[in-house]
Amino acid sequence: MSRVFNFNPGPAALPLEVLEIAQRELVDFNGTGMSIMEHSHRGKAYDAVHEEALANAGKLLGLNDDYQVLFLQGGASMQFAMIPLNLLGAGQSADYVNTGAWASKAINEAKKVGTVNILADTAKDIPTTMPDFDALAYTPGAAYVHVTSNETIAGTQMKSFPKTEAPLIADMSSDILCRPLDVTQFGMIYAGAQKNLGPSGVTLVVIRKDLAERGTDSLPAFLQYRTFIKNNSLYNTAPTFGIYIFMLVTRWLLEKGGAGGIEKINEAKAGKLYAAIDGSNGYYRGTAVPALRSTMNVTWRLPSEELEAKFVQEATAQGMIGLKGHRSVGGIRASIYNACPAEAIDALVAFMTDFQAQNG
Ligand SMILES: *Cc1c(COP(=O)(O)O)cnc(C)c1O
Repeated sequence: MSRVFNFNPGPAALPLEVLEIAQRELVDFNGTGMSIMEHSHRGKAYDAVHEEALANAGKLLGLNDDYQVLFLQGGASMQFAMIPLNLLGAGQSADYVNTGAWASKAINEAKKVGTVNILADTAKDIPTTMPDFDALAYTPGAAYVHVTSNETIAGTQMKSFPKTEAPLIADMSSDILCRPLDVTQFGMIYAGAQKNLGPSGVTLVVIRKDLAERGTDSLPAFLQYRTFIKNNSLYNTAPTFGIYIFMLVTRWLLEKGGAGGIEKINEAKAGKLYAAIDGSNGYYRGTAVPALRSTMNVTWRLPSEELEAKFVQEATAQGMIGLKGHRSVGGIRASIYNACPAEAIDALVAFMTDFQAQNG
């Protein structure tokens, strides 16, 4: 078997241990004589998986009874639409902070539904940054405030969250469960699973139950949060295989010491990579302002685009894949989510040293 070092931004690396369990169980799940994919989503075998997935998420996030974990479909992009459809009532406005490509997409969808106030716009700032969230002029009486905790393309990450009067909603697609979180600061958090939680096809939503009651009855049932609360995320056929992998990934996270345990590992990994960038005498230049450097997506430049292309090509040849920066910004990006092993970082740092020596 030969596995590459996978720095893909999403879908992204999964823990090898999880893949191996899924492989062992693939054709005969728990002695039932069939795959989990072939089980009824309303049967006993799947029900145990579903309940453990919900319970693991609750444990890892330290949720109380005010919140409900939901498994939805349509990715984080569907939430860009569902949030305003449910929570932005007639005559109300919502506050959004534009920190980059993903926040912009959320804003564009919300504008189709109602009035949007953009409190700050750092989407085009170079070096890549975010505003001071504590200093923003939040709109009194806003339906909610929407932020993006980690800008996957830019490589910036919110290091703390503002206290807002209106419910705070965060797109955490690329840094969910990378660190401990006080969920009571939020009305809702959400994430497509394919970066830190499992395969694509499942979206994790954690919502305060009272907020889910706001959606008008005229919304189609499938677009209402409360439909999924009422039905324990089994309103229709759930993405069962994705939830099964989510269950295994969250079990793996609990074994790593939960959010606190994985945070230490993530900080060590990111620390090594940023140290390699900062120790290169300016050959490698980090793109995010240092105080907001993401522990999940590390972005940097080389002296020229030609060298960047060569860097990606030679890294790929050495089994390190997915390092090309997003097409909209260029440069290099290493996505080092929870499941990216420390050995991958060590290999990349060694390669960077070598590459500079040969091409400096
Ligand atoms: C990847 C990503 C998305 C898009 O997720 P989909 O599940 O593909 O819709 C949204 N927001 C952020 C921050 C992301 O990183």
